[in-house]
Amino acid sequence: MFDYLIVGAGFAGAVMAERLAGAGRKVLVVDKRNHIAGNTFDYYDPAGILVHKYGPHIFHTNSKEVFDYLGQFTAWRPYEHRVLASVDGMLVPVPINLNTINELYGLRLSAGEVEDFLHSKAVKIDRVKTSEDVVLSKVGKELYEKFFRGYTKKQWDLDPSELDASVTARIPVRHNRDNRYFTDTYQAMPAQGYTKLFENMLHHPNIKVMINTDYKEVEDSIVFKKMIYTGPVDYYFDYCFGKLPYRSIEFEFQTYETEVFQSTGTINYPNEHPYTRVTEFKYLTGQHHPKTSVVYEYPKAEGDPYYPVPRPENAELYRKYQHLTAELNDVYFTGRLATYKYYNMDQVVAQSLALFKKIMAQEKETVLR
Ligand code: FAD
Ligand code: UDP
Repeated sequence: MFDYLIVGAGFAGAVMAERLAGAGRKVLVVDKRNHIAGNTFDYYDPAGILVHKYGPHIFHTNSKEVFDYLGQFTAWRPYEHRVLASVDGMLVPVPINLNTINELYGLRLSAGEVEDFLHSKAVKIDRVKTSEDVVLSKVGKELYEKFFRGYTKKQWDLDPSELDASVTARIPVRHNRDNRYFTDTYQAMPAQGYTKLFENMLHHPNIKVMINTDYKEVEDSIVFKKMIYTGPVDYYFDYCFGKLPYRSIEFEFQTYETEVFQSTGTINYPNEHPYTRVTEFKYLTGQHHPKTSVVYEYPKAEGDPYYPVPRPENAELYRKYQHLTAELNDVYFTGRLATYKYYNMDQVVAQSLALFKKIMAQEKETVLR
């Protein structure tokens, strides 16, 4: 008899398992994949290099609560991610900043001058609604075409004008020389990798883990009181309103007989090649090795559901499912797939920590009644 059946052993499910187990609840975590850690799963490839199976995962957060919470299960290796984009035959920093503009146009502008430069290029848009609006209103058409249009088309198979503003708004524009991809207060990688972090989180006498198991295969033969669901919300409801769109990616791994392959952790290719970006793992992990492994990302429609697609009609469809979730008293939905949100890891951890607090408060209320 379990108090909770937890579907999914990614961050959303593992945080719930760890918290509930610590509060004395007996939990069973099931995952249909053959490993824990969800999309953050990492492993040593045949060359002995630590790689991320589902694409590069860089941890960053402004939340001290999330950083300290995860810090109970891992030591951290400080790491600030830097990305270059291949544009006009050059490799220039993204997010677009003072260095990008100066390198791209052979200028020597100051911070104030680059602000004026971008202001002169920016398109005036009264109500910024789409991902195209976001970029045009900050940097204008030419830089939009060079850095965003092709990349977004490849990544989403949609024009930026068909995507919510929130997608390209993830990438800021800076007037200073800060080349870092993220500016969060806490930027670090789990020192021994994500999978190890998850092993530590799930190592508890109240937690049992079952992999290679779709919960629908076992839910009728397991006795449990409540469920935490972190899989795709449309699958839970047997797609009764139709499928929610997700974007998938094919990851192509290559190992090269050289110590260093490229000049930074990730290089984006907005305009050439069918892939969007190439990431060299040793930058992220800090591993020393005479060889190096990289991953090429080829976006595609079919395959594992990696990215919810932020656009109004999908939000509308999700809301229909959300109404159904609200009617269930004994099932809680959390995580990127179960709440159909383009969340980073830290947002998912925060979401599950908040859900745990809510459940504890509800249980207390029930006892008092
Ligand atoms: P998941 O990690 O997807 O876990 C859900 C789990 O549920 C999966 O293991 C799945 O197998 C299991 N499951 C689903 N259905 C069932 C079922 N029916 N029965 C049993 N098990 C089931 N975030 C960052 O912060 N930084 C990054 O650099 C970053 N890079 C990313 C790069 C890529 C290519 C992608 C796709 C995502 C990236 N993210 C990044 C986002 C990050 O992966 C997610 O925020 C996080 O992993 C979501 O955790 P989750 O537990 O909600 O989902
Ligand atoms: N983007 C782009 N060009 C870039 C980087 C990002 O057009 O060089 C757009 C693209 O639409 C992408 C989105 O901004 O999907 C968010 O980028 P991010 O790097 O945050 O994507 P993720 O790491 O989540 O795949």
